[in-house]
Amino acid sequence: QRCVVAVDGPSGSGKSTVSRRLAVALDARYLDTGAMYRAVTWAVLRDGIDPADAEAVAKIADNVVLTINTDPRDPHISVDDTPVDGPIRGPEVTAAVSPVAAVPAVRARLVAQQRQIIAAEPRIIVEGRDIGTVVAPDADLKVYLTASEDERGRRRSAENAADLAATVADLARRDTFDSSRAADPLRQADDAVVLDSTELGIDEVVAHLKALVDG
Ligand code: C5P
Repeated sequence: QRCVVAVDGPSGSGKSTVSRRLAVALDARYLDTGAMYRAVTWAVLRDGIDPADAEAVAKIADNVVLTINTDPRDPHISVDDTPVDGPIRGPEVTAAVSPVAAVPAVRARLVAQQRQIIAAEPRIIVEGRDIGTVVAPDADLKVYLTASEDERGRRRSAENAADLAATVADLARRDTFDSSRAADPLRQADDAVVLDSTELGIDEVVAHLKALVDG
């Protein structure tokens, strides 16, 4: 039956790993909305646009075609038919994504596409910052995943083989930006299940959420 799960939380909280595994366990699809904001940012940089130029950035968001594969075992995203799964995780895109995601016209455009995907895939795990609050306020289950800043930094720097102090600083910068922007800031939905994964293994988190869905 229909099952939409919203997974929100700050960077490095384990959202992606948990959401993908939960989707596999529930035989559902998986949508990474952060990848969509990153893909628009990739196009902004491709076209030599200043990420702080909101008007030019909005124009890019209006014109790009994002193609998304929602298979949790093999998620992919393309911009105008160019696969961008690798480059959207790079430091250039990561450094520029927050101001791009703060542009209201960019959000309007991507939220509309996200809602279309959700409408077409009634069993889907959707991860982001505003899924439970804005994109899918009627989700069957809303999860807010957190972890301590140190733990989130450790996970990200292990993933990217990057310097720990620099990674913690980058996460803190993005979280502050994402939480304080005017348009759809990162916020916990009132009816979200809050899970702190600092001391929990991925398997425990996934098993707990699966049990909540299965009732
Ligand atoms: O989740 P990820 O780190 O890939 O997200 C990259 C950026 O995209 C976030 O820092 C945030 O600025 C933006 N984002 C957003 N709303 C979402 C998902 C991501 O603003 N639903």
